[in-house]
Amino acid sequence: MNISIKAKASQSYDAIVVGSGISGGWAAKELTEKGLKTLVLERGHELKHIVDYQTTNDTPWKLNWMNKIPRETYQKQAKQARTGYTIRPDAGYLFVNDQDHPYEEKQRFDWMRGYHTGGRSIMWGKQSYRLSPMDMEANAKDGISIPWPISYEELAPWYDYVERFAGISGSKEGLPQLPDGVFQPPMDLTPAELDLKSAIEQKWEGRKLIPGRVAHLTDPTKEQLELGRSSCQYRNLCRRGCPFGAYFSSQAATLKAAERTGKMTLRPHSIVHSIIFDDKTEKAIGVRMIDEVTFETIEYYSKIIFLNASAVASTAILMNSKSKRYPEGMDESGALGGYLMDHHLGVGANGILETHQDKIHYGRRPTGFYIPRYRNFHEKATSNYIRGFGYQGRGMRQGWNRWIDGFGAEFKKKMTSFGPWSIGMGGFGECLPYENNRISLSSEKTDKWGLPLVVADAAFQENEINMRKDMENDAAEMLEAMGAKNIRSYNNDPAIGLGIHEMGTARMGSSPKESVLNEFNQVWGAQNVFCTDGAAMVSASCQNPSLTYMALTARAVDHAVKELKRGNL
Ligand SMILES: Cc1cc2nc3c(=O)[nH]c(=O)nc-3n(C[C@H](O)[C@H](O)[C@H](O)COP(=O)(O)OP(=O)(O)OC[C@H]3O[C@@H](n4cnc5c(N)ncnc54)[C@H](O)[C@@H]3O)c2cc1C
Ligand code: SF4
Repeated sequence: MNISIKAKASQSYDAIVVGSGISGGWAAKELTEKGLKTLVLERGHELKHIVDYQTTNDTPWKLNWMNKIPRETYQKQAKQARTGYTIRPDAGYLFVNDQDHPYEEKQRFDWMRGYHTGGRSIMWGKQSYRLSPMDMEANAKDGISIPWPISYEELAPWYDYVERFAGISGSKEGLPQLPDGVFQPPMDLTPAELDLKSAIEQKWEGRKLIPGRVAHLTDPTKEQLELGRSSCQYRNLCRRGCPFGAYFSSQAATLKAAERTGKMTLRPHSIVHSIIFDDKTEKAIGVRMIDEVTFETIEYYSKIIFLNASAVASTAILMNSKSKRYPEGMDESGALGGYLMDHHLGVGANGILETHQDKIHYGRRPTGFYIPRYRNFHEKATSNYIRGFGYQGRGMRQGWNRWIDGFGAEFKKKMTSFGPWSIGMGGFGECLPYENNRISLSSEKTDKWGLPLVVADAAFQENEINMRKDMENDAAEMLEAMGAKNIRSYNNDPAIGLGIHEMGTARMGSSPKESVLNEFNQVWGAQNVFCTDGAAMVSASCQNPSLTYMALTARAVDHAVKELKRGNL
C-alpha cells in the first residue's frame, strides 16, 4: 500500500491501544496521563456513558416480554441460547450476537463478548480479588506448565495503584490466600450470611466468609467524584450500565480520565486485523484495521502498541500478524493459542432458612459473600486434585418474585408478602493450563470482514472434574452446618467460556522458547508490542481475574514509557 508522507503523519500516534474494555481503558488512561498521544481502536460502536444505557431505569413491566427471551431468539442464536444470559431483553443489546460474529467450536465454548466502547467493563460482575503469593508460585511448586516470571511482591504495588483509582469495596481480613488491598468500606452481610459465617468459622478452622469485594464506590475519593462518579445506590441493575458511575467501567473511569488529558483519540468501528512488523528494524510500526461500516482497510502507525482486545481476540490478532520474522504469527514458542483457561462454575448448593422471619433487608446490594479458597491449603482435598476453589453466594429474604401457587385473595396476600430467607453459594474453581486447550484460526472460514474465524477446542479435564465433587459437597455441608432446610446441591456440566474469564493463550514467561510475552508483557522479539489482557495469564488461580489485568496493564505502561524515554523502544 502506497501512502503519502502527509497521510502517514495524520495516521501516526505515539501509542495505539487495541480495545477499550477493562484492560484497554487502563492502557489508554496510563499512556495519555504520561503524555503520549494515543489512538484507541475499538471494533464496536460507541456506547456513551449514561445516555446509551438504554434500559438502565426500566421497570420490569417496561422491558420487552417482561424480560423473557422470545422463542425465535432462542432458535436463531443457538449458542447464546445455551445460557440465555446474553440474550435477555434487559441487557442482551450489550452482548455480541453470534450470528453476526460467528466462531467455531470443536468442543462447547461459550464466548460471551461485548463489542462497543468499554467492552465487558459495562456488563462485568465487578468481583475484584488479588492473586496471592501462593497462586503465583503454584506452577513452579507443582511443576505444571511454566512459572510466572513475576512475583506477587512485584505486582502488589500495582494492585494498590489500580484499586485506589477504580474503587474497591471490601474488608481487610489478613488472609494469606487472598491478600487485602486498598479498600472502601465493605457492603454489609445480611443476617442469614452472618449466621452462615459463624457456623462455618466455628466448625472449620481456616474457612472464612467475608463480604464480596467489588469495584463499587462506597466512599468515593475526591478523584472519583471529580470524574463524575458517585456512591452506589444499591439498585443491583448494574448489568444495564450504571448512571451513577458507581461501579468501575471504562466509560465512568479510565476512558474519562484519558479523555481529560486531551491526548486520546478514540476510533470506534475499527476492527484491528494485525500488527505491522518491520523485519529490518525488528519493531512493530503500526496496525492494520478494517472499518466495520465501510470495510475500508486502514493502517495506523505508532511507537508502542498495546493489545487489549480480550484474551481470545488479542491472540487472534497475534496469529494474523505474519511477517518474515513471524511466518506463523507473532510467536516463536508454539505457546500462542494454547493453555486456554477459564474458571469452572455451575456447581454449589442452596437452601431455605426458617430463621429471621421478622427481618427484611433494605436496598439491593450488588454483591454477596465470598468464601476464599481453603482446600489444598488449610485443608487437604478429599479426592485427587491440586489447587482449589472459592465460593460466591447470597443469603436473601425471598421477595415477590418467588414462585407461588394459588388464586384469589389468598394468592394476592402471598404475592404481596415476603417469603422465608434463602441462601446459596456457587463455586469458582481453578483450571490448570493445558497445552491442548487451544484456540486457532480457521483456514477455511472467514467473517464478513474477511477475518478468519476463531476455532476453540478446549475442555475441563480430570483435575477440574475431581475438584467439582468437593465444590458440590462442601457447599451442601456448610449450609447444613447452619441449619438450612431443603438443601439442593448441583453440579452442572461445565464448559469453557461459561466463567467468562478466558485466559492464557499468549502467556508470559522467562524465555522466548516457552512463552509469547516476557515479564513486562512485551512480545518476545517485538519489544514495542505489549499484551496485557487475560491472554498473558500463566495460571488462573480461583479468583476473578480482571483486577489482575488492570495491575498488569498499569505496570506494563509504566515500563513501556520508561523504555521509550530511554530510547529502547
Ligand atoms: C456477565 C459478566 C460478568 C463478569 N464478572 C466478572 C467479575 O465479577 N469479576 C471479574 O474479574 N471479571 C468478570 N467478568 C470478566 C470481565 O468482564 C473480563 O475479564 C474483562 O472485561 C476483560 O477485559 P479485557 O480488556 O481483556 O476485555 P473486554 O473488557 O472484553 O474488552 C475488549 C474490547 O476489545 C474490543 N475488541 C475485540 N477485538 C477487537 C479487534 N480486533 N479490534 C479492535 N477492538 C477489538 C472489544 O470490542 C472490547 O471492547 C465478567 C464478564 C461478564 C460478561
Ligand atoms: S447497584 Fe450501584 S453500581 Fe449497580 S447500577 Fe445501581 S448504583 Fe450503579
